[in-house]
Amino acid sequence: MRVLITGGAGFIGSHLADAYLDRGDEVFILDDLSTGSIDNIRHLRARPKFHYVIESVHHASTVAELVDQCDVVFHLAAAVGVKLIVESPVRTIETNVHGAEVVLAAANKKKKKVLLASTSEVYGLSEDVPFREDGNLVLGATSKGRWSYACSKAIDEFLALAYWRERKLPTVLVRLFNTVGPRQTGQYGMVVPTFVKQALTGRPITIYGDGAQSRCFTDVSDVIAALVGLMDHPGAVGEVYNIGSTEEVTIRQLAERVRTLTDSTSEIVHIPYEQAYGDGFEDMPRRVPDLSKIHALIGYQPRKSLDQILGGVIDFFRDAPTAPTRPEPIAG
Ligand code: UDP
Repeated sequence: MRVLITGGAGFIGSHLADAYLDRGDEVFILDDLSTGSIDNIRHLRARPKFHYVIESVHHASTVAELVDQCDVVFHLAAAVGVKLIVESPVRTIETNVHGAEVVLAAANKKKKKVLLASTSEVYGLSEDVPFREDGNLVLGATSKGRWSYACSKAIDEFLALAYWRERKLPTVLVRLFNTVGPRQTGQYGMVVPTFVKQALTGRPITIYGDGAQSRCFTDVSDVIAALVGLMDHPGAVGEVYNIGSTEEVTIRQLAERVRTLTDSTSEIVHIPYEQAYGDGFEDMPRRVPDLSKIHALIGYQPRKSLDQILGGVIDFFRDAPTAPTRPEPIAG
């Protein structure tokens, strides 16, 4: 199989490229390196079945050319990370909406199957936990920039589903729940790499808000198995699937766990949301997936526990202590 991965130099995309190359498939990557990094794919460049193009997904002729050469498309290129989204909403909206338009239009011309990555963020402020794929999406006010990400991804979902229903382009949608693992940087605000780097360097571990908010973290290897399984299964077409784990942890517990696992003496500090993300920020208090739909289709079940996931991230940063960091807010 020839597989195109947009955003293939990103954290998840590069692991997906590894998986397909290990299966003996041919992999093409399109990435503009805006949030991805050449470091993530450096180890693949010598492999004969690996090809990459450094260009934006907005570049329609490049996308069309790559789609022509491939059998299936993973559209993972997107603006991600709450920090980036809050700081650059124009870029977020344009990258996510226009990128999906270009990729879906090109795939439609040749009727190449597309799996498009959406996000658990689309459930927004819904209190209907655990979130089911057919549940309501409850987004906050448009004055709160965070929701532009969820809204842009919801538009992507509508568009992909419309292409399937109206034009018979086979599309599959996935909502990813807090994926973590090696190669994820803390640069765009993600909490696990941020806490691990803080703990390993003895800096304060920065909990935003009171730390009672919770998340379920999924190891990237479990996410990759789910993506490959869904792409392989004809029954996934025209459907939306949650991919995640149900091991829920509060951010306070996470901070303590990271500190223990790293034997760190870092203090744990609380930072008000306004200081971390600016005024008018709204967090999601809980985010837990209902995984029955994907389990019924492909038998998906996450294998890695939180401690195993954290162990992998800690090892990654221990081996690469000079990974880039961005300035963080001063503890208040
Ligand atoms: N968070 C935190 N400290 C940090 C970074 C994030 O307390 O240094 C919190 C953040 O406010 C959120 C949770 O950790 O409640 C998960 O944040 P992340 O950006 O990783 O993902 P999200 O689930 O918000 O998309």
